[in-house]
Amino acid sequence: MARKMGVYAVVGYILYGLFFYWYLFYFADTSLPFEYEGSKADPTTFLNGRELMLTEEYSKIRNLLFFLSTPLEWLIYFLVLLFGLSKAFKRWAEDSSKYKLLQKAIYLLWLSIFAYVATFPLSYISYSLAKTYNISTQTFAAWMKDEVIDFWLNFGTWLIIVPVLYWLMKKSKKRWWLYGWLLSIPFTLFMMYLQPVVIDPLYNDFYPLKNKELETKILALADKAEIPARHVFEVNKSDETNALNAYVTGIGSNARIVLWDTTLNKLNDNQILFIMAHEMCHYVEKHIYFGIAGYLLISLLGLYLTYRIMNLATRRWGKELKISDASDISSLPLFFMILSMLLFAASPFTNFTSRYQETRADKYAIEMTKNPEAAITSFQELTRSGLSQVNPPLLVKIFRYTHPSMLDRISMLEEYEVKERNK
Ligand SMILES: [Zn+2]
Repeated sequence: MARKMGVYAVVGYILYGLFFYWYLFYFADTSLPFEYEGSKADPTTFLNGRELMLTEEYSKIRNLLFFLSTPLEWLIYFLVLLFGLSKAFKRWAEDSSKYKLLQKAIYLLWLSIFAYVATFPLSYISYSLAKTYNISTQTFAAWMKDEVIDFWLNFGTWLIIVPVLYWLMKKSKKRWWLYGWLLSIPFTLFMMYLQPVVIDPLYNDFYPLKNKELETKILALADKAEIPARHVFEVNKSDETNALNAYVTGIGSNARIVLWDTTLNKLNDNQILFIMAHEMCHYVEKHIYFGIAGYLLISLLGLYLTYRIMNLATRRWGKELKISDASDISSLPLFFMILSMLLFAASPFTNFTSRYQETRADKYAIEMTKNPEAAITSFQELTRSGLSQVNPPLLVKIFRYTHPSMLDRISMLEEYEVKERNK
């Protein structure tokens, strides 16, 4: 039975992959609706032939990799259970130490290493693809260093969560999801607080803006938005990527706006001020806090569903999955699998709310800077430097886009421009 379930899962995954290959490469129409042809959102007006071709090609492959990678995780966790690997990891952990906590740590280490190795080919393909298309400029060694930091950071985080989680499961079979959720609130806030000062600096260097002339302009804008100057940072990204970005991160006294140096290098001052005003909106309207609140609400529902599904799966397929009891550490792959599935299922909703915030930020930014020409050309440059599709396929938009498509963003600005001219 276990073998049959494994074969079904693999066949299911292959069919799913083929569907998305067909959908992205043959079915989806990413050409512009005719009413936008020749507008400023039309990529043929600002990209050359080669850039146009690369944009489509790169986006299609990247989208396919996106849709392949998450369900691959599910498949791996499923097979780890089915073929008794999880049981074996647990046995090895018990053989190496007599301390319960250390056993959990060793089990988690084996599982993490296995999952990392199994997903490594796809991560490597993503990296080398970005390199081929000249988006990433990172050497393999530098990329691998980031991967190693990622691995240990993840391992460390789960090492705090997992023992507590399984202890709660043992103590309260019916309410662990609720207690777990309550504990996750201070933990999440603490991690969000540490993110910009402890975690992010592990990867890159952060410092106040280098260009002092530009800094004066940005701080004048920040002043208008009532943001204290010490919350604006520059990060050194140009030695790893050609893409442009800026973002808001952290909470409380660690809240900050970060500009990638690539953005500062490739855009002119007026374009940067528009991007900056966009980020200021996120800061001023406290989008991060709404994000955390939404995330906590969703995770309450998610943990409850995980509890229900774990019990159901253990009752019905316990023998095949080799889980005798949901509160046994060997059920961890099932926990990870369900969690990842629920996150994926929730992503259309979370992306939708994020796109709403992004639209607000664009509107705020254009009202603040009143320079549609700079705003439009900055988005055009963003499209070029990241080789992003102006009009992505519907499923890509629903599952992947935390920002509105460039078609939506640029045409909104164009409408603003027309409206202002007719005033
Ligand atoms: Zn934004």
